[in-house]
Amino acid sequence: MPRFLLDVRCADLIGWWLRVECPACGGRSVELPFRLIEGRTPGLRLGDVLRGLRCRQCGVRPGRVEMVANAADRAHGRPAPGG
Ligand SMILES: [Zn+2]
Repeated sequence: MPRFLLDVRCADLIGWWLRVECPACGGRSVELPFRLIEGRTPGLRLGDVLRGLRCRQCGVRPGRVEMVANAADRAHGRPAPGG
């Protein structure tokens, strides 16, 4: 991820989602809306968020991190994640 992106404020990323993949949970991915992150902790920058990210299942730092415009692609044809 380009370095300058780490200084982007979450408030400027409302409408985007952060998709993080856990290397330890078999590629399990979780999507976090920046709207929610900003709502919980206003003023965070993307770098702060990434530094604090841990898998909720196993506590490992995330492997791959992607920015997605929304999670709509999940609603088309793919089964809902169980559990
Ligand atoms: Zn995990």
